[in-house]
Amino acid sequence: MSNSKNSHFVTRFAPSPTGYIHIGNVRSAIYPYLIAKQTNGTFILRIEDTDRERYVPGATDLIVETLKWLGLDWNEGIEVGGPNQPYFQSERRDIYHAYARKLIAAGRAYPDSTSSETINSYRQADSQKKIPYLYRNHRPDESAMQQTWEPGVPLRFKSEPKSYKWHDEVMGDLETGPEVCDDIILIKADGLPTYNFAHIVDDYEMHVTHIVRGVEYLSSMPNYLGIYEALGIEHPKFVSLPHVLATQGNKKLSKRDGAKSVIDYKNDGILPEAMLNYLACLGWNDGTEKELYTKEELLKSFSIDRIQNSGARFDEVKLLWQNGQWIRKIFDEQGVDALFARTLSKDVNYWPESAQNYPEDYLKKVLSIIYDRLKTLSDIREFTTYFFEDPRIDLEMLLNNKFLKKMSEKEQGDLLMMVSNKLQSIPEEDWQAENLQNALNELLEKSGKKPAELFSLIRIAISFAPFSPALHLTMAVLGKNTTISRLNSAHSAIVNDL
Ligand code: GLU
Repeated sequence: MSNSKNSHFVTRFAPSPTGYIHIGNVRSAIYPYLIAKQTNGTFILRIEDTDRERYVPGATDLIVETLKWLGLDWNEGIEVGGPNQPYFQSERRDIYHAYARKLIAAGRAYPDSTSSETINSYRQADSQKKIPYLYRNHRPDESAMQQTWEPGVPLRFKSEPKSYKWHDEVMGDLETGPEVCDDIILIKADGLPTYNFAHIVDDYEMHVTHIVRGVEYLSSMPNYLGIYEALGIEHPKFVSLPHVLATQGNKKLSKRDGAKSVIDYKNDGILPEAMLNYLACLGWNDGTEKELYTKEELLKSFSIDRIQNSGARFDEVKLLWQNGQWIRKIFDEQGVDALFARTLSKDVNYWPESAQNYPEDYLKKVLSIIYDRLKTLSDIREFTTYFFEDPRIDLEMLLNNKFLKKMSEKEQGDLLMMVSNKLQSIPEEDWQAENLQNALNELLEKSGKKPAELFSLIRIAISFAPFSPALHLTMAVLGKNTTISRLNSAHSAIVNDL
């Protein structure tokens, strides 16, 4: 393990409130969370809202909701406060200006009010000359530079063209030449800093030890390293996360490629434990075959040195499979009450509307016999309606069933009558799974039918659903009256159709 458990690591999730957090970028929250918490360190939530043009109202609330749902609690940051308040960058203007003045004093930043038209003409000229555009090649002469910086005038970094070598905890040793260093903007005309400058100041002020972010920032590294140097500060360790790739093709998963909001998966019936588990293991493994991890297990096993340095493909089928495993795990380890609590919350209800009229105990009985077939909690809505309302009789379903196809309608009707009479003879107080199983066995013997034939017939007659849990369990939950009345209704539908 590369993470030393003796030091307390400080990491941050630093989203810009420009929209929802999607599957492609949420690992930038999960991994720093794990890295900080496994060393008893500090996980910070900082909102990078200095780009007012891209600001989306409500996005911060969505970020907070997503982190809370995933169980990624932060020790410092918005809502909870901390020693480095405020945690909205837009409220930290004075701090950035103080650092900007240090750079001006050291001769490493200059005010520059060159208009965007002039900048465009520089670009065009360079493109005509077929040389790469770099602003520093057009930097105003010392003599023409404004001597004092008035807010309202953009401030640029005065770069030094040089080569850089640095280490990335995931990407290894990296190196660039002088051609990538440029005079980037530090403070914009609106007085707010760019991401490029603000994150450096904040990570330093907040004592961040590891910057965990997407690889898209790698190309700007030489400029960042130049700024650290000019400020005379040490940089944190860099942990660059490869892209999450779309399910199809070889491209990065982005909103345009259908990357859904993480929180939408909650409405779809994904458990937060499963989501955390799936995403943590997307591009990381501990070298074993283990697939299900609780948050505590992730905290024990996670290590930076096993983060893959190539893209990991998002696979919703695997997510659904893992969610199914988590549903079973909660039921098996914590019992039906715990799983039931997940199915009803103030903002999502995964039950069919007709379930409202039934007592909780009945819903729990239903859940106990269907939970092992669920991939998501919203499957409940689809799989359980016949427990709450009489199904629509669909004779086609009987005719098309592969086990019943060869059986005439008359035979189906007679068999249903036989079943109904047999079950009718079971006293109400004996209507329990075990007795029902015995009755079904007797019916098998008496009818001489194969289990698949007889049981498919009964199952369809009482549920008209494509599948149901084991028949004796389904009938036990439905109760005697409902079971018999459905058998009889199916019987009369068949007979009247003859
Ligand atoms: N504000 C940046 C973003 O939302 C964060 C990058 C970083 O973590 O430094 O992409």
